[in-house]
Amino acid sequence: MTAQPVESTPSLWPAAHAIDARRPRSLQRQLGASDTVCERRAAYILAGTEPTDTSDKRAAILGTYAHEGLLAAAKEEHGWLIETSVVGADVRGHIDAVHIDEVTAARLPKRLRPKSPASVVTVEDVKTKSTYVWDRVLRYGASEAELRQVYLYADLLRTVGWEDKPGQRYLARLGPIDVQAIRFRFVNRDNGEEHIQEFPFDPMEATRARWWVQRVVECADPEEARRSFDGPGLDAICDHCVFRTACWGEPRVPGAPVQTVLVHDDADREAALADYVRGHELETEGKRLKKKARTMLDDSKPGVYGANELKWTGGNPVDEVDQQAMIDRFDALGVDVPELAGPDFKRMEALLKEAGLGVPMRATTKKTARAIKVKPAKQP
Ligand code: SF4
Repeated sequence: MTAQPVESTPSLWPAAHAIDARRPRSLQRQLGASDTVCERRAAYILAGTEPTDTSDKRAAILGTYAHEGLLAAAKEEHGWLIETSVVGADVRGHIDAVHIDEVTAARLPKRLRPKSPASVVTVEDVKTKSTYVWDRVLRYGASEAELRQVYLYADLLRTVGWEDKPGQRYLARLGPIDVQAIRFRFVNRDNGEEHIQEFPFDPMEATRARWWVQRVVECADPEEARRSFDGPGLDAICDHCVFRTACWGEPRVPGAPVQTVLVHDDADREAALADYVRGHELETEGKRLKKKARTMLDDSKPGVYGANELKWTGGNPVDEVDQQAMIDRFDALGVDVPELAGPDFKRMEALLKEAGLGVPMRATTKKTARAIKVKPAKQP
């Protein structure tokens, strides 16, 4: 088989991007619950601001494919109620799955009832994540923005019910739904591992989520809205934000970081310097704490201790080239020992390897560096 030159093989990404741009979610101009990540960005969306930047959406598109596949399988095999929509005055959203209870199911026509009702109405959000952030997911669960997003869905379902639109009118007719629980299902898109986080619906959290949206809606100008992140170069969310130029503008000095626009006068410089000193102090204290804990654990066996798993890497015996045995081997083979101000051991090693012969090694008393590894303990 002849390999094709790379240039003659078109990439699939332009097609994937084109289809993604035509998705209803991409065309939607109303604030979506999933847009409630950054106040400033949400304000741009609400104001109908045209994006000033592009962003690489490949990872997000792959996440969407995995997400759609998993939900379709859950619908097909378990009869899940998936991808229904809710809408309020300021925000709308698509709920991944709603598991209704027996009482609610009884209000639906028989053919539309779920195969196995839940004990309480539960709103479920499926999030696909990469391995890079998996430890954080296991340790901390849903982020603040993810919680806000799901509380907005659940709150709309409790106060308004499902959106009245073709395909889900039978659900809209039920009116407000008594959501009692929230579930996050995290799926590692690199290895398929699943992690569930489930908890009762908290009305205070729902109020907080509503206030967040309200604060953004009340901004007369997006520039009044708070930047929830530290900006390009410091925060990945800003790196991928399509409003980053609108939000930060250009630095006064070409090539300088955009965050320099936050300093207007000496008072700003004073505050930034105070932050720098505080950051340094926190860092020093953090290092001291880690160092002491690491020392205390030095003779502890690997294992799960509470919320964390302790592992050790390294600490293995180190072998070294046995130079005398190497000279003896050359001697036994009748080959001259290469010289370079004495025996050239590097050359001897290379020659043995080239000939497919083993390099004689000997054990030493040295060990490889031992390092501590702490991971969140797996769920039972
Ligand atoms: S660049 Fe960052 S701070 Fe600005 S709107 Fe986008 S996400 Fe928010």
